[in-house]
Amino acid sequence: MASEEAVIATNDDAAQCKRYAVEKGYWVDPYISLMISKGTAHHAPEINRGYYARITSIRILLEKFIRLTNRKCQVVNLGAGYDTTFWKLKDAHLTPEKFVEIDFAPVTSRKCHHIKSKRPLLDKITNEDEDIMLSQSDLHSANYHIVGANLVDLAELDKKLQQSGIDRSIPTVFISECVLVYIEANKSAKLIKWISDNFPTAFFINYEQVNMGDRFGQVMIDNLKTRDCYLYGVSACDSLQSQMQRFTSNGWRDADALEMNKVYNCLPQSEIKRIEKLELMDERELMEQLFSHYCLVWAYKDVNNIGLEEIDL
Ligand code: SAM
Repeated sequence: MASEEAVIATNDDAAQCKRYAVEKGYWVDPYISLMISKGTAHHAPEINRGYYARITSIRILLEKFIRLTNRKCQVVNLGAGYDTTFWKLKDAHLTPEKFVEIDFAPVTSRKCHHIKSKRPLLDKITNEDEDIMLSQSDLHSANYHIVGANLVDLAELDKKLQQSGIDRSIPTVFISECVLVYIEANKSAKLIKWISDNFPTAFFINYEQVNMGDRFGQVMIDNLKTRDCYLYGVSACDSLQSQMQRFTSNGWRDADALEMNKVYNCLPQSEIKRIEKLELMDERELMEQLFSHYCLVWAYKDVNNIGLEEIDL
């Protein structure tokens, strides 16, 4: 098992990269600066565009799911880190019935602290008629919940989801944004199967590294290794085919997977034009090389045929 602290530190990196890109104007997020302090590092344009493509594509799929279900749905963000989606959905009047975030307890404790101490975060989760229940690492409010759990401990995950009042019969979307890759493939497969066994109407959005077998991929792997962080999931799920198969062989009806270069071309072109003007990029090949090492995967099971197969980019 990678040292938990090293994996936890990847959240600070992701949040700092997101804050940097937001401050450059790639997308709007009034909340990320309340979660993480400003870093000192400079991030290259291809990194910022990569984060733009990552958050925009996940948001497109998520929003389609929420609209399809008329907000009568639940969102479970696995390894959520300092993700701010809940607050942005609230601003867009797209709040689902329940939004649950799960991460290691040290991460959720820090996030609980940020929420408690910053009014713009706290105000959006409070509701006049409902009290907030708060412990060191968990917080429960009317429709926002954050709980500390290890995703490989399915009994603990089950308990925490129950404490959050999750209703398994309601359409539920699970998000894992750069998370499963830190978990051994047999354990993430069990998690994926547990979800499909327990949620008859479910959608899954997964974003992570892929195609890491080449020299560029090896450099990415080695960089993380120097920080004691290991991409355990990579070897078993290193192609788009295996990324889809991890769902279809674990109880999901169907799955799709796109490399991020393809995803980037599917995004609204007016927005792409706008963000490409933000920073000059000398070598587009660098961006294409980086993007070819990440993918977006989505899968569904839809016992009542509510139309989940229609959701795509
Ligand atoms: N999803 C967030 C985002 O994209 O901004 C955070 C991504 S960060 C790269 C990976 C996150 O997954 C970290 O917050 C880490 O603590 C969490 N994580 C990894 N393995 C986990 C596990 N077994 N149980 C709970 N959380 C885990």
